Amino acid sequence: MMAMTHALAGLVLAALAVVVGGDPATVAVMGLAGSLFPDLDIYAGHRKTLHYPVYGWIPAGGAVALAVAVPTNATVALATFLVAVALHPVMDIYGGGLELRPWEGRSERAVYSHYHGRWLAPKRLVPYDGSPHDLGTAAVLAVPAMTLPDPVPAFALALLAVGAVYVALRKRLAAVWSALARALPEPVAQHVPARFFE
Ligand SMILES: [Zn+2]
Repeated sequence: MMAMTHALAGLVLAALAVVVGGDPATVAVMGLAGSLFPDLDIYAGHRKTLHYPVYGWIPAGGAVALAVAVPTNATVALATFLVAVALHPVMDIYGGGLELRPWEGRSERAVYSHYHGRWLAPKRLVPYDGSPHDLGTAAVLAVPAMTLPDPVPAFALALLAVGAVYVALRKRLAAVWSALARALPEPVAQHVPARFFE
């Protein structure tokens, strides 16, 4: 799923964290940060290095238990961050595979599971990132963010707007990325993942 959908899922967790007493501004930032964190591996072992669909729930579960036992701003914020980090790769499983043009459905690699020691196949409930289904998912996930204080609702709507533009341009962007990758000088190009040259 696209970054905007992940970010809005982070805000859903933030809205839940507020219900159990989290500071709204802090948990909103932590939910966003946690939901985007796994994709920092985009150029280095994408969907493997920082994606832990099973093991991610061990620290997340521990942090939730701690937040329930000792509910403070810090423990609730930590739990929000770690649950968002754990949720991200699970969402990726329900999207498309890892390839430049995921609408072609040629990749059977959604997310690497270090627990299983192999790649998990994409379930394609959301057929690919940047698909109309992805935007629909983002729109539903944006609803709980409306309960958070300003400027979070406006920010969530901005994420949706950026998502709508991304969805409209998604297939053309793949062609742009491919052309850019091919235009790179060799010393730089060797650091670009192979899928960009597909
Ligand atoms: Zn991801």
